Amino acid sequence: RMMKRQMQLRSDMGIFNEPFLAIYESLIPAEEEKAKQKQLLQLLERLVCKEWPKARIYLYGSCANSFGVSKSDIDVCLAIEYTDTDKSEILLRLADILQSDNLQNVQALTRARVPIVKLMDPMTGLSCDICINNVLAVINTKLLRDYAQIDARLRQLAFIVKHWAKSRGVNETYQGTLSSYAYVIMCIHFLQQRRPAILPCLQEMETTYSVTVDDVECAFFDQVEKLHNFGSRNKETIAQLVWAFFNYWAYRHDYANSVISVRTGSIISKQEKDWTRRIGNDRHLICIEDPFEVSHDLGRVVDKHSIKVLREEFERAADIMQYDPNPCVKLFEPY
Ligand code: ATP
Ligand code: MG
Repeated sequence: RMMKRQMQLRSDMGIFNEPFLAIYESLIPAEEEKAKQKQLLQLLERLVCKEWPKARIYLYGSCANSFGVSKSDIDVCLAIEYTDTDKSEILLRLADILQSDNLQNVQALTRARVPIVKLMDPMTGLSCDICINNVLAVINTKLLRDYAQIDARLRQLAFIVKHWAKSRGVNETYQGTLSSYAYVIMCIHFLQQRRPAILPCLQEMETTYSVTVDDVECAFFDQVEKLHNFGSRNKETIAQLVWAFFNYWAYRHDYANSVISVRTGSIISKQEKDWTRRIGNDRHLICIEDPFEVSHDLGRVVDKHSIKVLREEFERAADIMQYDPNPCVKLFEPY
């Protein structure tokens, strides 16, 4: 089936470039949204430092990795040292503090996989999740942001893929489909694999940035301003790349044997990672290696049912990109 369905790029692809770029641009957050984020962050900083003078606040996720579309929630990490209390107590105390400062819908989710406090700020209208000491997320946020600065096509592709995933209902980890973070990793991997390559593999280059977090060594080349001509030998346009991305995940990816790995800039085998069978709840039906937590498969949430949903959506998207007279509309039609 894979061989039969491989497709040749349609000849009129060029006419869809402008419309795809227009969609991308319509998704970019306005400057005033950035200002509101800053305002909320400063408020949080002030409240937190009153209680814990040595604590720090970091932004992570899509409002800091440059893959945030308009009206995204903001993700905040509270970095704090504590010994005599546990995380739940800190979260509950934090919730108290925020509540008494008129922040709304304040909820401490102490038993979630990643425990957080949720809130809504009535001044800015922004919703926000605060986690504690999730430093790896702050580092992978930097990695994504650094990749985005190398070639503009990454941000364009990732915005379109995220918009597609949200429109089609396949960006819901609690339903067994993939996180936004996983989709961005898939885009980075894909652009590393183009020939000529559009993105390098920053973790295989000389180390210019390095931190060790929870026993994980995070090292990569981060002087990305030196790399902004990296992809210029590759002339592929955004419409071609969207087409090729969906074609890859619909008809070319070897789901039975392959793991995509941004860390190595290549595809590695499931065998090598011992991801060939179900262990606990990890089924490894679509394998996406986390760049730092290498034992962590970002596709672990995908189950027997949702892999089918996901692959059918990839095929639908690939077929629309190949045959539909109006792919820029059809691709994003609600399911
Ligand atoms: P959205 O615009 O949909 O909110 P996002 O980039 O904020 O997108 P989320 O999936 O909400 O993506 O994740 C927020 C951040 O949390 C990611 O940028 C990443 O730093 C971290 N993260 C999320 N999922 C994982 C994961 N499975 N493993 C490691 N880090 C993760
Ligand atoms: Mg987010």
